[in-house]
Amino acid sequence: MNSIALYIHIPFCEKKCFYCDFNSYSGKKYLIEDYIKALKKEITLYKSSLAEYTVGTIFFGGGTPSILSGKQMSEIMNILNKSFIVEDNAEISMESNPGTLDYNNLKQYYDNGINRLSIGLQACQNHLLKTLGRIHDFEEYTKNIKDARKVGFTNINTDLMFSLPSQSKKDWKESLRKMVDLNIPHISAYSLIVEEDTPFHNWVEDKKVILPNEDTEINMYHYAIRYLKEKGYKHYEISNFSKPGFECKHNLIYWENKPYIGFGAGAHSYFNKKRFNNVEEVEKYISLLKNDKLPVENKIDILVKDEISEFMFLGLRLINGISIDEFKERFNISPFEIYKEQFNKLKEQGLVVWDKHYIKLTSKGIDFSNIVFQEMLL
Ligand code: SF4
Repeated sequence: MNSIALYIHIPFCEKKCFYCDFNSYSGKKYLIEDYIKALKKEITLYKSSLAEYTVGTIFFGGGTPSILSGKQMSEIMNILNKSFIVEDNAEISMESNPGTLDYNNLKQYYDNGINRLSIGLQACQNHLLKTLGRIHDFEEYTKNIKDARKVGFTNINTDLMFSLPSQSKKDWKESLRKMVDLNIPHISAYSLIVEEDTPFHNWVEDKKVILPNEDTEINMYHYAIRYLKEKGYKHYEISNFSKPGFECKHNLIYWENKPYIGFGAGAHSYFNKKRFNNVEEVEKYISLLKNDKLPVENKIDILVKDEISEFMFLGLRLINGISIDEFKERFNISPFEIYKEQFNKLKEQGLVVWDKHYIKLTSKGIDFSNIVFQEMLL
């Protein structure tokens, strides 16, 4: 039996953060009950298509999945366990945000099978959290970590952001140090991307907020790599660091370009050589499922050349790179036959290296990964 990954999207948040362009909504909590009914329906509609698969990972993303009560989470977990063969040692992750977590809901999540907790902290300085429009402070986060450990969570990720307005290098170093002091086994570190149609975008345009320059951004990133390595973390993906054995299995499936099904509003899937996504709007998603219709829109066949491109630019995000043997096995051709010119050029530029088994980005290639990914498009 083949293994598959499942993603469940929970698009509700207490408040919209100033930089956020995810498919998430505040002020719509009154829809949660209907949304869960719709999710349950959507999950059961996939029962027969996934009968030949076992589920190796489940990931609740958002939005803020921890806006759900323990009971609501247990309803979703029950339907997943009833509909699919969930592997005994499956990684079951849940994104969460301080301000929505407490001992009681953490205990219920854990008792319902969630075994990996991802917490969106972003920064350890309360003035930066305010700038970002977050609803919590650092003290709430440390309390959440304590409670999470008390109820049994050991596999914990924390999301941090760098290159924030008015964030000093000292702030960034302090945030990383606090993660190490708290012994957080997995850290995701992303630089702030200013997306259009967010309050942040307008403020940057109007020069109401000033972002650190590119040199500062890259220095912060390099510092994280150096410091976390020194503290025993493995830099295993461009933006992800883990203690040995704590890599996120679910995200590895995306980077290794393996199949997954996404449930919920706006969720994406990659299955049977097709990519497809659900309607984004929560009300539309609920209404389609009320009428027993799958909420899918935009289904595209992935041609072999697209699959090769995706395999390359997703796989090259991993610090170990892509396995040449795996490529040959999957596509019956050597990657050097397809990308001969590109690889020679990228090697000359010092962006890519390879040995007998792997092709990977150099340190410079990690900094300029977009140039490499561009070259991988066929
Ligand atoms: S909590 Fe996350 S998903 Fe929700 S608004 Fe903030 S950044 Fe977006």
